[in-house]
Amino acid sequence: MVAVRTRARFGPSTTGGGIVIPIALPLLADDEADAAREVVLSGWVSQGPQVAAFEREFAALVGAPHACAVANCTTALQLALAALGIGTGDEVITVSHSFIATANVIRHQGATPVFVDIDLETYNLDCARLAEAITERTRAIIAVHQMGMPCDMAALIAVARRHGIAVIEDAACAAGSQIRMNGEWEPIGKPHGDIACFSFHPRKVITTGEGGMLTTADAELDRKFRLLRQHGMSVPDVVRHGSSQVIFEEYLVSGYNYRMTDMQAAIGRKQLERLPELVARRRRLASRYNEVLGNIEGLRLPFEPAWARSNWQSYCVRLPDWTNQRSVMQNLLDQGIATRRGIMCSHREPPYAQETRRHDLRQSELAQDRSILLPIYAQMSEENQVLIAEALKKELQV
Ligand SMILES: *Cc1c(COP(=O)(O)O)cnc(C)c1O
Repeated sequence: MVAVRTRARFGPSTTGGGIVIPIALPLLADDEADAAREVVLSGWVSQGPQVAAFEREFAALVGAPHACAVANCTTALQLALAALGIGTGDEVITVSHSFIATANVIRHQGATPVFVDIDLETYNLDCARLAEAITERTRAIIAVHQMGMPCDMAALIAVARRHGIAVIEDAACAAGSQIRMNGEWEPIGKPHGDIACFSFHPRKVITTGEGGMLTTADAELDRKFRLLRQHGMSVPDVVRHGSSQVIFEEYLVSGYNYRMTDMQAAIGRKQLERLPELVARRRRLASRYNEVLGNIEGLRLPFEPAWARSNWQSYCVRLPDWTNQRSVMQNLLDQGIATRRGIMCSHREPPYAQETRRHDLRQSELAQDRSILLPIYAQMSEENQVLIAEALKKELQV
């Protein structure tokens, strides 16, 4: 069990008399608070020494040659596309079944998202459907490691290489997940594609409030990320600050302000120290869920392929067809158990409803309509898991 002192005011709360089990809860404690305080008092608060140290430590953790910190994962994904030169007229293949940011970044670059369906077992892109979606305009694939479950990178990369297409990993949820490639367990983010993008939003396994990271093995791509994240400026602030000579900077491209602050990075460094323990804890919680939910008729539990080790950012179950998703969720909430519906489909939201370059997305829709996410967070007790299992079992009794 994770033994830390927290003063979480947003933790398990009470409403209407009962205890509420939240869907997620970040593990932030004195270590993170002290680290942020020190930065505040240090006088350097944005994209300085803490950001550089966070990048080095993150790169080492995932085994990546380069890591570049940014404001959040949405900006990371956008920079990934921009650094690859993807824009108007280009097509990018991805899943509709993802948080809408995955589709939005493609749009924001002026390119067209091409949605392919998922494999219902893993909730990830169905690589068997990749080839049919590729055209002469396809420039990249954004492979999402949904809910922390690694996407089948071996199959995906084989198709991408054959067609000369770049691979971006939307690893927003996947810090601490692993994949077996060529017989070795490797962290997600090495990266296995060309670029991997991570999120440190509070709903993910580690958090800096807001925050993102790009990893790559390509020094030239990393140089572009660094240029684009601070207005295309030729000389970073730290270099000018440390120089005894006057330096005049230039603005080489029209970039953005996607900087991370040093308070965020200092918190992130403490979160990185916790990551192995957080993932181990979540894996124990997931296997406990598998045990206590295993005997509920008609309930489909999540599946972990032999070559994947999920960080279990989310634990997703599929309800039998005769149940009503909303009323199951409402009845659980009435008993103090927060849930969320399955991952959304972007093509069902107004900005993408008219997208024509779309393939059969029935599995994606089924996943959204029939799945619910159950509470999972490091501080969660196994007694609460039993409670949830009992409540769910009662709901699904015929
Ligand atoms: C959370 C999430 C994002 C967005 O991350 P932010 O850091 O909030 O910008 C993108 N893609 C997926 C799959 C996510 O789960």
